[in-house]
Amino acid sequence: MSALLEMKDVWLSYHTKEGETEALAGVTLTVDEGEFVALVGPSGCGKTTVLSVIAGLLSPTAGSVRLCGRDVTGPTDSVGYMLQRDTLFEWLTIRANVLLGLRIQKKLTPERTAYADALLEKYGLGDFADRYPAQLSGGMRQRAALIRTLAFKPRLLLLDEPFSALDAQTRVTVGDDVCGIIREEGGTALMVTHDIAEAAALAGRVVVLSPRPAHVVGQVVPDLPEGGAARRSDRRFTSVNGEIRKLLARHG
Ligand code: ADP
Ligand code: MG
Repeated sequence: MSALLEMKDVWLSYHTKEGETEALAGVTLTVDEGEFVALVGPSGCGKTTVLSVIAGLLSPTAGSVRLCGRDVTGPTDSVGYMLQRDTLFEWLTIRANVLLGLRIQKKLTPERTAYADALLEKYGLGDFADRYPAQLSGGMRQRAALIRTLAFKPRLLLLDEPFSALDAQTRVTVGDDVCGIIREEGGTALMVTHDIAEAAALAGRVVVLSPRPAHVVGQVVPDLPEGGAARRSDRRFTSVNGEIRKLLARHG
């Protein structure tokens, strides 16, 4: 069986008035169906660029990107992209926010609407569906943003530092929460983070990138219980963090 996502030797340079910036230098990466992979690397190394290439928003200079067995040539429905900020519209209710993407893309079928409503209900936002984002906590907003993305039933979920706008305390619980939902819904996800502990706590596999221009320097597969709180309290958690840090340091 081929991987859900297959990136092979992907190179990308940005061209600006000031000159050329090489962002990716031969990134090779696969993600299998059902996996939760974290992508860690120093700030500015090219993590967001990797996601943009997968999402079909940027074309690589060289190399190939295949998703669900097809070459990525532009944005598709197969990918759901969740950003750092929750990007909810303050003047729309939570339910309207969740349905907005589907409405814009003319995909608001009764089935999808029902699925979105079911997700809101299942994940404790049913009573908040008619409230506005400002009336929700940071964690609930992030959950609403996730539900908006899941409503499309994407084959691959891309998360770009999804918790970095939250304070340190909330960050851990919201991270556990969001990843729990993704697992429960049977999703496949690639999450970018520069937080080593977050990657170690949540991912089934942690892929480490070099400083810019990015290439994969190694990976760590935490031999720990299912992600979240149970993992953080496992006595081997610290050594998993150490392994990731070592990979980063060796190439830093
Ligand atoms: P990360 O997400 O790991 O912080 P990025 O992928 O955003 O890194 O950026 C990688 C490098 O490419 C950085 O040096 C950044 O300045 C540069 N870069 C990102 N986007 C652009 C752009 N649109 N034009 C020119 N350079 C860019
Ligand atoms: Mg980034």
